[in-house]
Amino acid sequence: MINLILFGKPGSGKGTQAEFVKQKYDLVHISTGDVFRFNISKNTELGELAKSYMDKGDLVPDKVTIKMLEAEVEKFPNANGFIFDGFPRTSTQAQILDDFLNSKNMSISMTIALEVDENLLIDRLINRGKDSGRTDDQDKSKIQNRLDEYNKKTAPLIDYYKSQNKFFEIDGIGEINDISNRIFDVIDKNL
Ligand code: ADP
Repeated sequence: MINLILFGKPGSGKGTQAEFVKQKYDLVHISTGDVFRFNISKNTELGELAKSYMDKGDLVPDKVTIKMLEAEVEKFPNANGFIFDGFPRTSTQAQILDDFLNSKNMSISMTIALEVDENLLIDRLINRGKDSGRTDDQDKSKIQNRLDEYNKKTAPLIDYYKSQNKFFEIDGIGEINDISNRIFDVIDKNL
């Protein structure tokens, strides 16, 4: 079983690359951002709650996010493995994910981080906002807040996974398929 975390700042290409990795290794892709957006589009209670945070570029509270993530994993008892995209984003989420996977005799195989310079990310997100209609991508101050949230709450996870020898960084700039190949190389060499 392979359980991967795709790690990186907002706009670093996690969602795009997760689709290729999912196909190649036959994994289930769980994007917490996508699950929240799906709930928002269906006007569920969870969607309403998540929206109030996402609209500002804040993280959704751990308790809510963790509960949702666990429910998503439980939907796929026969999976070959998972790609977590956008989760974990805080130390609490990372610790609880380890405990949760342990309780199912599973574990994180590796965390792969897509490295992209912040200035380039802001341009990418603004462009994405024009096409996708994602309101959190349309406002520079919201984008900056997401980057600040990342630097404050998510970046500490780098040390968490490094201390488990599970952290791998790749250059996230270039052609999409070149980046996929960099990810495949890391997976194949370290499985
Ligand atoms: P991006 O990484 O491009 O910012 P995502 O689609 O992964 O976008 O996430 C969008 C928003 O959803 C985040 O800004 C945050 O509000 C919320 N969110 C997603 N994943 C998490 C998480 N693990 N913990 C808390 N909030 C989250």
